[in-house]
Amino acid sequence: MPKSLRVLLVEDSVDDAELVELELIHGGLIPDMVRVETAAEMRACLSQGGWDVVLSDYHLPAFGAEAALETLQASGLDLPFIILSGMVRAEEAVKLMKRGACDFLDKAALARLVPAIEREMRDAADRAQRREAEARVRVLSMAVEQSPVAVMITDTHGVITYVNPCFCANSGYEAHEAVGRTPDIVKGGETSPEEYRTLWQTITSGHVWRGMFHNRRKDGSYYWDEASISPVRDLSGNISHFVGITLDVTERQIKDQELHKAIEHLTEANSELERFAYVASHDLQEPLRTLTSFTQLLDRRFHDRMDPEADEYMAFIVDAAKRMHRLINDLLTYSRVTNADRGFSRVSMANTCDVALRNLKCSIEEAGAVITVGELPEVVADEVQLMQLFQNLVGNAIKFRRPGVPPEIAISAQRRTGEWMVSVQDNGIGISTTDQDIFEIFRRLHTHAEYPGTGVGLAVCKCIIQHHHGRIWVESKPGEAGCTFLFTLPDSP
Ligand code: ADP
Repeated sequence: MPKSLRVLLVEDSVDDAELVELELIHGGLIPDMVRVETAAEMRACLSQGGWDVVLSDYHLPAFGAEAALETLQASGLDLPFIILSGMVRAEEAVKLMKRGACDFLDKAALARLVPAIEREMRDAADRAQRREAEARVRVLSMAVEQSPVAVMITDTHGVITYVNPCFCANSGYEAHEAVGRTPDIVKGGETSPEEYRTLWQTITSGHVWRGMFHNRRKDGSYYWDEASISPVRDLSGNISHFVGITLDVTERQIKDQELHKAIEHLTEANSELERFAYVASHDLQEPLRTLTSFTQLLDRRFHDRMDPEADEYMAFIVDAAKRMHRLINDLLTYSRVTNADRGFSRVSMANTCDVALRNLKCSIEEAGAVITVGELPEVVADEVQLMQLFQNLVGNAIKFRRPGVPPEIAISAQRRTGEWMVSVQDNGIGISTTDQDIFEIFRRLHTHAEYPGTGVGLAVCKCIIQHHHGRIWVESKPGEAGCTFLFTLPDSP
């Protein structure tokens, strides 16, 4: 398959040019040749680019091979430059070859022309490839040198052959102090011999090892390094080096440790508080019982003998004691939920809801509430807590009804990806969607005189749902009566 060749020919003789062209064709090439006779013409042609080779006569009336070579070199192009001449004088040939000409051929014996061009083009292509490779290596080495992560290269015995400036900045060692030694120079002493063994086994078997080191700087201070160490293979596929890339994560590690400590502290404080709530509410019950019993006794025994004002005071005391009793009971329920450690099991939500409704039988009948229950699924849950959840939500839906309007309550469940969403909808006094903080303990939107209660019920619901890793919230539609409490239960809590 003939190859096309773009030839820039420096030649004043049209006949000689034809001879060269014929020789190229004869040698199996398709020459695309331009002939120039002056430096200016040559420069103009070179600036257009796309040339494969420059062939140049030795003597021209206004130009010559030496000047043509200079013109080519000034252009910065790396093209094979071959001199064709009638008379070849050895010292001239040597002089020009020394200055960069590739070959010197006798015009009368052009048989060597095509092989010479082909050889020179191959050499030029090799040179171009080498230049590209060198440029790539230069960029790579600059990237490693300027990298914001530390790089260390060792030989297969673990002896350091290279460290980049970032390693030096992190460790405090100069490159010449690290090279020739082992990574032990930054060993902090916390990594166990087993871990080192695993590391070594991983990388010598051709895999990447990732881990954390608590390293020691040259000045004795410590820093955390997140490291990846991997083998480097040579052209025949054998491991020749190991490269370790490490990121100084000291700041992150300190923050993580602080966060961890803060979480531990909070968890401890929280469980102490929960224990305290339980103990306090439990122990308060006893004196309260005494207070209530003796006040009631006092009332019964001395009712007739006291004046009406004292009777009224007594009634206040009894009422306050009852409220306190309710509050303590609710607090106990709350602390039991937060301390609960019961296991989860597969439970029928329909049955659980049914138990809750039976517990609320009296208030349902008293309020004339109509409750519709849609199809409810089986879920993985704490059965007692789930019952308590329904009881609190339905209990509230009944309690917070509009005066004179019998409660209508709808309970239903909806399937969503990975979870069930359950809703308890009522037609009561409603709630603003901005009041999501009603789930906080003791948060109430009404006075005790308007609606009795302690403000613990929804906090219990929230705890139950958190225990099940779900979410709970309230929704209401503007202009519509009532509100809807919604909660989710994930398939695997
Ligand atoms: P409590 O019922 O003892 O007041 P909860 O924690 O159960 O305490 O409820 C907190 C507050 O949220 C209630 O005081 C009430 O203002 C509001 N709330 C709860 N459920 C409803 C409901 N179904 N409709 C309207 N308001 C409600």
